[in-house]
Amino acid sequence: MTQASPKVGFISLGCPKALVDSEQILTQLRAEGYAISPSYQDADLVVVNTCGFIDSAVEESLDAIGEALAENGKVIVTGCLGAREEVIREAHPHVLAVTGPHAMQEVMHAVHKHLPPSHDPYTSLIPPQGIKLTPKHYAYLKISEGCNHRCSFCIIPSMRGDLVSRPIGEVMQEAEHLVNAGVRELLVISQDTSAYGVDTKYRTGFWKGRPLKTHLTALADALGDLGAWVRLHYVYPYPHVDDLIPLMAEGKILPYLDAPLQHASPRLLKAMKRPANSENTLARLRLWRSICPDITIRSTFIVGFPGETEDDFKYLLDFLHEAQLDRVGCFAYSPVEGASANALPNPVPEEIKQERLERFMSVQAGISAAKLQGKIGKTFKVLVDEVGATGAIARSAADAPEIDGQVYIEDAAGLNPGEFVEVEIIDADDHDLWATAKKAKG
Ligand code: SF4
Repeated sequence: MTQASPKVGFISLGCPKALVDSEQILTQLRAEGYAISPSYQDADLVVVNTCGFIDSAVEESLDAIGEALAENGKVIVTGCLGAREEVIREAHPHVLAVTGPHAMQEVMHAVHKHLPPSHDPYTSLIPPQGIKLTPKHYAYLKISEGCNHRCSFCIIPSMRGDLVSRPIGEVMQEAEHLVNAGVRELLVISQDTSAYGVDTKYRTGFWKGRPLKTHLTALADALGDLGAWVRLHYVYPYPHVDDLIPLMAEGKILPYLDAPLQHASPRLLKAMKRPANSENTLARLRLWRSICPDITIRSTFIVGFPGETEDDFKYLLDFLHEAQLDRVGCFAYSPVEGASANALPNPVPEEIKQERLERFMSVQAGISAAKLQGKIGKTFKVLVDEVGATGAIARSAADAPEIDGQVYIEDAAGLNPGEFVEVEIIDADDHDLWATAKKAKG
């Protein structure tokens, strides 16, 4: 007779990189015969994967730990906030164990200690692509861990260490398993995607007997052969990124580039210790658009960084007008404990930060609205995410899940999540599009 499987509850907070860590831990738990419990009451213990990026994320993580302790009592903490054990122990002295990010082995060790496994080969069968937390038709593919930069507002390198690229054969194998399991869109992520392979000196690896360099261009090319949408995130505009654009123009990978620029003023970029220069960036954007006119460029920015003057801010607004980016996220600077930027002089008062954030967003809303208006009457291939009684929600090549806009399809009859369909755009606002389905593509 088989013994009941020990049950683990799991809370996953934070960015897509943390989500990938959660998926690896969940996959390992299942592989060892643990069941995953959807409720605190049924779980024998709870793992909380935390985020520590900004103060509000720290609070959310501490609240989640508190809730899990109150509801269940046995809690193991992992993730970015786990790198600051003292913060957790001060708020919640009774957690069973604390580990940092990307620490699957340590988490498993803590789970074994407090909840020994009861291995059962019938319940521990796991699919080859592992356990995914995203809907079945898209998946994040993490290609490296850590970062060699030291941006002054960021503590990720101190939590996750220097860049370590995954072997290209292993990344390709995971991607192939995902596509075979029904994934239609692969979202390539890391802290610094364009740096893939720098740490290995672009070593040649192998996939299906074929030599492949550990380099982003080679990886994008090979991923493009798998038949799924391939979307690249966190790509810094280094010169070699130019080589990716022809792959987009040919339709091998999506014509979409998420390049976090953070600012445009050279003075501010220097204070942020960012690896970029805005004039080169503008030239680069022009070049990319000349090779692939349909490219969607997404970026994120920080306003109100210490020392940012009104002139720096206007420089940023001028850059926005000039760059005509398609998708933009913006944050008011918020100090992160442990970041070197905290020691910089001339912090920007909170009300000025908020005022700049609003001015920034209103300029970008105008740019974005005009760009989306230009899509009305055109036809696009979209991937259906959800189908409801009154319509479907889908995304085009220009829309990454969670962070970009969506395409609302009014006549959803016969559509299914994970299906590609051709639509004609009939309306737009500042962010989203409305469309009618033309024909299902299967
Ligand atoms: S590039 Fe900068 S912001 Fe991004 S993870 Fe590295 S240090 Fe942090």
